[in-house]
Amino acid sequence: MKKISLLIPVYNEEASLDALHAALCPLLSNQHPGLKGQKYDWEVILVDDGSQDSSLEKLKELNAKDSRFRYVGLSRNFGKENALLAGFDRTTGDAMVIMDADLQHPVDTIPEMIEQWENGFEDVYGHRLTRGKESTVRRLFTKTYYKLLNKSTRVDVLPDVGDFRLLDRKAVDAIRSLRESQRYTKGLYCWVGFRKTGVDFRTADRVAGETHMSAARLVNLAAEGITSYTTAPLRIATVLGFLVSLASICYMIYIICKTIIYGEPIQGFPTIICTILFLGGCQLLALGIIGEYIGKIYNESKQRPPYIVSEESDSDKKMSEKYNVSLP
Ligand code: UDP
Ligand code: MG
Repeated sequence: MKKISLLIPVYNEEASLDALHAALCPLLSNQHPGLKGQKYDWEVILVDDGSQDSSLEKLKELNAKDSRFRYVGLSRNFGKENALLAGFDRTTGDAMVIMDADLQHPVDTIPEMIEQWENGFEDVYGHRLTRGKESTVRRLFTKTYYKLLNKSTRVDVLPDVGDFRLLDRKAVDAIRSLRESQRYTKGLYCWVGFRKTGVDFRTADRVAGETHMSAARLVNLAAEGITSYTTAPLRIATVLGFLVSLASICYMIYIICKTIIYGEPIQGFPTIICTILFLGGCQLLALGIIGEYIGKIYNESKQRPPYIVSEESDSDKKMSEKYNVSLP
């Protein structure tokens, strides 16, 4: 029987976990009508991303009740991207479905994803038809961001597609092999390739709690996305530098000619100030962009592990031995 793993990152989700368990039950018992009688082995990997509430205790309770619910507790909050990697390292299924713990990703879409996987697709992504409750600013920001990102790279990151997706074991192993510690998983799915198809879904509202993705976190993730995915900003800095230099040379020739023809009484304070400020701004911008990339090189060169595990369910170790999944 084929095995399917569910990977769910959990951060301060104590209020959602009971609902999550209840929603998953029909699937895990192969009773979900969408499965059309197909039977699978299931496992659920819940990665506790350093929650401050009682999420981890709840995960332990779930594990005690049903050993298919395995948990990994990280030593602190490493962020969703790194929590996902901890899960990638531990799943043993032939395919893996990633979903959020807050049930914004409907369980009913999973059978459709499995169907597409059985049809031969290796990366079945969920395509959001609606984005749930979200501010207009966030929506506008997201739209512009994807436009920019896709303009600057050859490998497109799909808009309205997030982490809700099914990956074949091949894709899981490929993404596992990318060990950068500053991760932008959405870009990685696209970068590794594989046959992709989409399944539409409607984002539900959170069952409980509040989103953890504050505006600042989103801006960080967006910058991470651009700098880890493309070096286009460096090229832009070069082009900008070239254009400004060209304009400066033209202006210089003009000034020299003007001085030769008309002479130069001491004037031109505004011109000098404007030029200095403009050039200073351009230089700082270019330096900032270069700095972003150097910062990344610095962080990656330390070769720190992307996450640290504090505890995990016992069955994890047995599973990893059985399936020869080597843990870092
Ligand atoms: N999450 C996580 N670590 C974090 C932030 C979030 O593991 O630092 C998990 C969270 O528990 C949830 C998923 O990532 O399962 C999506 O988070 P959230 O619902 O806050 O984001 P949104 O859906 O609003 O983008
Ligand atoms: Mg959510």
